[in-house]
Amino acid sequence: MRYISTRGGAAPVTFEDVLLAGLAPDGGLYVPEAWPRFTADEIAGFASQPYAAVAARVLKAFAGDTLSAEACESLCREAYATFDHPAATPLVELDANRWMLELFRGPTLAFKDVAMQLLARLYDRILAQRGETLTIVAATSGDTGGAAVEAFRGSRHVRLVILFPDGRISDVQRRFMTTPADANIACLSVAGDFDDCQAIVKGLFRDDDFREAVRLSGVNSINWARIAAQSVYYFTAAAALGAPQRPVRFVVPTGNFGDAFAGHVAAQMGLPMEQIVVATNSNDILARALRDGRYARGEAVATQSPAMDIQIASNFERLVFEALGRDAPTTAAAFEQFAKTGAVTLPDAARRYMADRFRGEAVSEAETTATIAKVWQSSDRLIDPHTAVGVAASWRLPDAGAPIVTLSTASPAKFPETAPADAPPEAARHRRAEALAGLPERMTRVPADADVVKAFIREFARA
Ligand SMILES: *Cc1c(COP(=O)(O)O)cnc(C)c1O
Repeated sequence: MRYISTRGGAAPVTFEDVLLAGLAPDGGLYVPEAWPRFTADEIAGFASQPYAAVAARVLKAFAGDTLSAEACESLCREAYATFDHPAATPLVELDANRWMLELFRGPTLAFKDVAMQLLARLYDRILAQRGETLTIVAATSGDTGGAAVEAFRGSRHVRLVILFPDGRISDVQRRFMTTPADANIACLSVAGDFDDCQAIVKGLFRDDDFREAVRLSGVNSINWARIAAQSVYYFTAAAALGAPQRPVRFVVPTGNFGDAFAGHVAAQMGLPMEQIVVATNSNDILARALRDGRYARGEAVATQSPAMDIQIASNFERLVFEALGRDAPTTAAAFEQFAKTGAVTLPDAARRYMADRFRGEAVSEAETTATIAKVWQSSDRLIDPHTAVGVAASWRLPDAGAPIVTLSTASPAKFPETAPADAPPEAARHRRAEALAGLPERMTRVPADADVVKAFIREFARA
């Protein structure tokens, strides 16, 4: 299995190289040269297998010769043993024909753990074999940072630097990043929004001298291994609900489009899917792009679902590449224009491809609040604001037909301030979050300035 860049300007590489590189050197994103496929029988068989076993099958399909089947099995077994539910990502029934897929049973209470627990084990294994160390730099809108810190803390092969937007993440999200005292971890609180953080990180990857000097690597959702790990729960959830005989609709609360693209990957690998609903908060660039074919950046606004306060959805480039029939020059031109002008109109063929498979729904702040209250009143279940954006979008879908699965991306304990007034405080508590309150926090405040960030990282990598 080899990987190619969406912009066509990089030589094909192995899974190992894709894992360690993150972004392709031509500025594109890596995708598999061809999609591995599962048969209908294999997919039906996933219903009776443990989550880790299905994850190992998917990982092996993408890792090719880089990892043996046994290695995939042991890495996945260890990764998902950190989850506090035997199914790792359990399905719960919301109302008739509507389900929530709880992806937040990992150590930092958000779905980022699903990929990051596996990724850290992949890095450590491959770097130990090569006898190398490197520096991972990641921008976070809240949950990636905590999941990465928890997964990589204490690693002997990886130094980790996290950039997060100052004051735009919840207290619990921040504490998951800033309370671990491990020397291989550094947190930068950036005076800016998530898009500023992400732009700085992308700039670091474009600086060849810097990239070599600190041996830079990335675990943002541009990293292919994350997408691969996230495609697993589409298979397990759909198989549990009767796939492949019965197709399923998925509703995905979306920011960077990584999770939604992982659903598309599962479909490319043979999972019959009725539709993927891309649910956004009022940062609705993706909902607009899917509606009118124009991908145009707006001003990022702060909402109660901060992990989705994103105007530039990196992984959208992977979908555009697919939708253009893998035409790399046209993809490169589109995203170069978007980088320059902040807007691009997608060709008709790409719009049709997307309209057949996706539907965008933007959910307002008032609707998010009302949805949290309504779910609480009708089921005594507290949901977090990201999940609420998904549930609100799911209520707009016609009832008939395939089961609807909304991805529940974070525990309500990460966002206690959004719980309705009639919910008791215990409903928004979790022992893992409570254990962090009052612990000393470590972080460095920096301006949204790439040179300042570079200087910090060079120093950190030398230490
Ligand atoms: C990261 C995140 C999202 C958005 O996922 P993308 O892959 O960026 O689209 C949604 N909800 C929560 C809680 C998250 O942490």
